[in-house]
Amino acid sequence: MPQVYWHAGTIAPEQRCQRLGQQAATIWLTGLSGAGKSTLACALEQRLFSAGRTAFVLDGDNLRHHLNSDLGFTAHDRRENIRRSAEVARLMNDAGLIVICAFISPLRSDRDMAREIIGAANFIETYVSTPCVVCEERDPKGLYRQARAGMIAEFTGISAPYEIPLEPALVLDTEQLTVEQACAHLLQHLAPRFL
Ligand code: ADP
Repeated sequence: MPQVYWHAGTIAPEQRCQRLGQQAATIWLTGLSGAGKSTLACALEQRLFSAGRTAFVLDGDNLRHHLNSDLGFTAHDRRENIRRSAEVARLMNDAGLIVICAFISPLRSDRDMAREIIGAANFIETYVSTPCVVCEERDPKGLYRQARAGMIAEFTGISAPYEIPLEPALVLDTEQLTVEQACAHLLQHLAPRFL
């Protein structure tokens, strides 16, 4: 960008991680609304916190209240939502934090962008694969009912596509797994890095 210069700091991300005694990474939870992303993100954050790790949840719905409050649900806005959120995750990783992202992020190309921003080595794609019929039954926010009534346009799983991850690091179906069990799977997967 012309007339804007990068001012380099003197503390490397590795030094910050060393200070915190952990490796930074982003666990990226993707799946339908109601699949259990936010529930699992908070449960995992709690477990990592209890284990002495410094973790932080970035929740798609929460970020839409503030940082991304100007964005809607068109393909363009969804992509911008993911871009900004991934940039925040990257900064938090640079600060040494373990970041847990809960975003529907329905498009492969958008998730690929997030992977590129965050860096493939730090990006742990986790597909919360709970079937649509189960998510609709749960309908924790009443959104499926509204989508079926035609009150919400472009609702993922109903009137907008969800592209299943092709090579996720982990798949968690919360129809089959309790929150405890899903967290145990996540922690087992993360153990070599984080615990
Ligand atoms: P998302 O963030 O994917 O939209 P939420 O976590 O907000 O999903 O909602 C998932 C809902 O499903 C919550 O009401 C949660 O209590 C419920 N639920 C039932 N069983 C599970 C499970 N095994 N794992 C996660 N959530 C579950």
